[in-house]
Parts: sequence; structure tokens; C-alpha cells
Amino acid sequence: MKLGIVGLPNVGKSTLFNAVTKAGAESANYPFCTIDPNVGVVSVPDERLDVLREIYDSKKLVPTAIEFYDIAGLVKGASKGEGLGNKFLSHIREVEAIVHVVRCFEDPNVVHVDGSVGPLRDIETINLELIFSDIEIIDRRLMKAKKLLKSDKSLKAEVELLERIKEVLENGQSARVLDLTDDEKEMVKGFNLLSYKPIIYVSNVSEDDLISGEENDMVKEVKEHAKTEDAEVVIVCAKIEEEISQLEDDEKAEFLEELGLSESGLDRLIQAGYRLLGLMSFLTAGPQEVRAWTIKIGTKAPQAAGKIHTDMERGFIRAETIAFNDLVETGSMAAAKEKGLVRLEGKDYVVKDGDVIIFRFNV
Ligand code: GDP
Repeated sequence: MKLGIVGLPNVGKSTLFNAVTKAGAESANYPFCTIDPNVGVVSVPDERLDVLREIYDSKKLVPTAIEFYDIAGLVKGASKGEGLGNKFLSHIREVEAIVHVVRCFEDPNVVHVDGSVGPLRDIETINLELIFSDIEIIDRRLMKAKKLLKSDKSLKAEVELLERIKEVLENGQSARVLDLTDDEKEMVKGFNLLSYKPIIYVSNVSEDDLISGEENDMVKEVKEHAKTEDAEVVIVCAKIEEEISQLEDDEKAEFLEELGLSESGLDRLIQAGYRLLGLMSFLTAGPQEVRAWTIKIGTKAPQAAGKIHTDMERGFIRAETIAFNDLVETGSMAAAKEKGLVRLEGKDYVVKDGDVIIFRFNV
């Protein structure tokens, strides 16, 4: 999963990104991840892996990971090429979801680019840049599709959809607000619009507000807006996240408890990403390693196997599957087999969250 962190200057993006890189996952485990100073890789916390490690006495534990892209440099006018404008926008095009950091803290020492703190105005400023860029894309597509429509009537649906999107965008709204059928959703995905990407708003609040747990008016503003877009809101204090990221696991738990928090903001952000993108994890386990793998909800067994290796998808025979809880209750794969709890699933099996799987395949 790739998430892109965006936001106006001085809202706390770098602070949050620092927390991400410091919390950083062991890079040796993720050779597929880009090595780039603007990319931070964090592992997805999953307590089930610790339990499996006990059962299998595994040497290694490999959580699944998320890549955060630091997409700094967005300013008003980016869509017209100001600042790092276009480069910035092309980076957003590559991520699966946007993490939009919004300043919800007052601090006279931290200047705001617009002179005062105003979450809704900030959200609009950034969203408008994405919308402007989308209008260009839609206009181009619309021109082409209309021309072709004369000889190819099958393009009628596309033209109608493009016109609907254009109207919404010109109204200053993100394409996200559109109510679409499944077919239309598929079509829009092909347009790769920035304002259609799933979005999480991160309300960056002060230390005091985070600890008191009280929602300030700025956070309420962000939440109101998020509702209109079906977006998630995660409340964090970037400064506290940065502190947490420097602690070892046991210290981290202690520190969170002292603050009266059950989870770090980063962990909540990761969960929000999972929810928003419809993701889940399945698990593999053995004496060498226990490991979590991220897939979309609804993924079938062969494609899940393909996450591990393309050969496993190509030569897929079956998936020996057990639910995590069944495995824990019986204590071992052998005991679970005796009780008939290990299922032999075929190519149409839809993998469930927490399935522990051994794939059988032809090489
Ligand atoms: P960026 O420009 O969006 O990357 O913002 P930075 O992360 O550099 O933060 C800008 C300033 O705001 C820095 O001085 C940070 O220390 C400060 N800052 C960031 N997050 C918080 C926060 O949660 N509370 C307070 N009080 N200050 C913060």
C-alpha cells in the first residue's frame, strides 16, 4: 500500500513523516520497497504474528508494510506549475491513497501561510489544485471521446460520465463526492483522477488536545468536510508521534499508557488506510518465518498466492487453509488437521482476514 502525505507548508507533514521513517520497518525485509529519502516504510502492527511465532518457534517475524510518500511542496497554483507544481501532482498520481495533513493546532511560533489557522480553507486550497488538474484531464478526454462518439456509439456512457464529473469539478468539488454505479467506478479508475483517490484527513492537533481527548472546533470542521467525501479522519499530534517513533516497543506501550492512549496515531492511520482501501491480511507461518501479506478484500486464493510469488499463482493447485483462531485453539497445524479444521481450498476460494495458508503449487 502506498500512501502520499500532502498538505500546506507548516502543518506538520515533515514532523509526521519523520515519525514514519523513525518508526521505520527493517528495510532488509522489504526489498521491493523503493529506496528514496521521500519514502518511509512502516510495518503494519499485527498481534497475530507474535502468537504464530510462539506456536511455530519461528526464527523471523515479517509484518506487512506500508509505504508513505512525502509529497511536500504543494502551494496555491501548483496545478498551473507553480512551485514544484506538476512534479508534485504526478507524485500524487502514483499513490493509492492521499493522507492530507491539516493543521488543527494554534501556535504563535509557527506561521501559517495564509496568516491564520483555518482547516477548511486549507483543505479547499489543496483540493482545488487537485481539482484543477483533474479538469484538464477530463477536458482532454472529453474532447477525444466526443470526436470518436460520431463513429462509435459505445462511447456514449463515457461521454455522459465525463460530463457529469466535469460539472462536479467545476463546482469546486472533488470527484470523490460523485455517486457512481460499479461500472462507472471502474471507468473513473481508468481516468486516474487525483480528486477521486481515497483520502484520509489527518487532523494535527496540539499535545494538550490529544491528551485531553477533547475535539476542538478545528477538528470538528475537518470531520464535517470529510463526511461529504466519505473520507476518514484520524486525529494525531505529529510532535507526539515523533517522540513515540523513537521508543522501543515496551517503552512505547508505557509512554502511551502514561498519556492515556491505547494506540499511536500512526497505528490508527495505518488502520484507516486498510479500511479505506478495503485491505486485509492473510498469514503464512513456519519455523523459518511468520509473515503477513496484504491483499484486497475479495481476493481469491491463486491471486493471494501470487503476492508471495508469481510462480505460486501460475502453478496454483490448492490452499491448505486454517482460520487463525482455530489454529490457536488447537495449538498446532497437526492437531487442527486431526480435528478437520484445515480446509483444502481451490482456485475460487475467497481468502479471509487472518487465514493461515500453505499454498500447494506446481513449479
Ligand atoms: P510541514 O511544513 O508541513 O512539513 O510542517 P513541519 O512538520 O515542518 O512543522 C512546522 C512546524 O510546526 C514545526 O515547527 C513543528 O515543530 C510544528 N509542529 C508540527 N506538528 C505540531 C504539533 O502537533 N503541535 C505543535 N505545537 N507544533 C507542531
